Amino acid sequence: MKDYYQILGLQKGASRDEVKKAFRKLSATYHPDKKTGDEAKYKEITEAYATLGDEKKKAEYDTYGHSFAGGQPGGGAGGFNWADFQQGGFSNGQGFEFDISDIFENFGFGGGRRESRGRDISIEINLNFSESVFGVSRKVLLTKNSTCTHCKGTGAKEGTQMTTCTTCNGNGKIHETKQTFMGAVSTVRECTTCNGTGKVPKERCGYCVGAGVMRGQEEIEIKIPAGIQNGEVIRMTGRGEAMQRGQAGDLYIKIHVEAHATIKRDGTTLLTKMPVKLTDALLGGTYTVTTLDGDVTITIPAGITHGEMLRIKNKGVPNSANQRGDFLVQISIEVPKNLSRKAKKLVEDLRAEGI
Ligand SMILES: [Zn+2]
Ligand SMILES: [Zn+2]
Repeated sequence: MKDYYQILGLQKGASRDEVKKAFRKLSATYHPDKKTGDEAKYKEITEAYATLGDEKKKAEYDTYGHSFAGGQPGGGAGGFNWADFQQGGFSNGQGFEFDISDIFENFGFGGGRRESRGRDISIEINLNFSESVFGVSRKVLLTKNSTCTHCKGTGAKEGTQMTTCTTCNGNGKIHETKQTFMGAVSTVRECTTCNGTGKVPKERCGYCVGAGVMRGQEEIEIKIPAGIQNGEVIRMTGRGEAMQRGQAGDLYIKIHVEAHATIKRDGTTLLTKMPVKLTDALLGGTYTVTTLDGDVTITIPAGITHGEMLRIKNKGVPNSANQRGDFLVQISIEVPKNLSRKAKKLVEDLRAEGI
């Protein structure tokens, strides 16, 4: 029995994430199309990944030393069956869960699917509490493939024409038969010279060398709306990785909001607790409350009780219609722990009064 972990250079029981990483790294080296390619070795790592990259098969392999899933007639206890791949076994209900892009990226079969859209990018942004309530604009610097600003993605030198691609004679497609370890595979692939468009620039754009996209840093301004909650995700369509003559991926921004030391949020309402002296609770008084809009003076009415709420209108969180919720102040009456002799005497007098 082959040791799939060893094949991938991993310790027994390594996680699926580690398996995935190892497979990616090894396949980049041993892929038959690469200079460093080694078909036998590549087949071995692909076989190992077919089992360890699949949750169910990996669990079986970890427990029994081989996998039962896949149902191959030969019964070779490896759980690896090319039919799974060829028949689209990725979602055929055999529990064969496999990241299709892993295989196709590595084979270079040129499935139209991966060509059509750039990768999504996801980033995280930390906000302080006040920024999350009022909204904020953040600029981030992303290193990614962006549409070339000089040729606007056409790849042609400014003011020059496009001409018919000579590689595919303007068809955009190339028929070819490839010898692989699965036998001869006949494919119609997209022409890589013109990316399936059938046209190439007569003169290439000097900035992107005709690619239409350039890898570089792009500053993106993210307008974070007022009232955003911790864990919310903003999606910016088309701000992910650009793709030559294809649709750009999306940019996902996950928001983390730092908690505030004294203010909590409930929907559009903000809430804080305020300690009030016993005498002020009895006689009333004025207090200063720190809101997100600054300090606000409030009047404590005489006879207020512990836990009672005072409302400061329109100092809460803005809603989508830009109307603000309220700021609530919860009264916490402080009962003194130690009384001076004089204070005790006064309180005893109060008790004699029936209070
Ligand atoms: Zn360009
Ligand atoms: Zn072409």
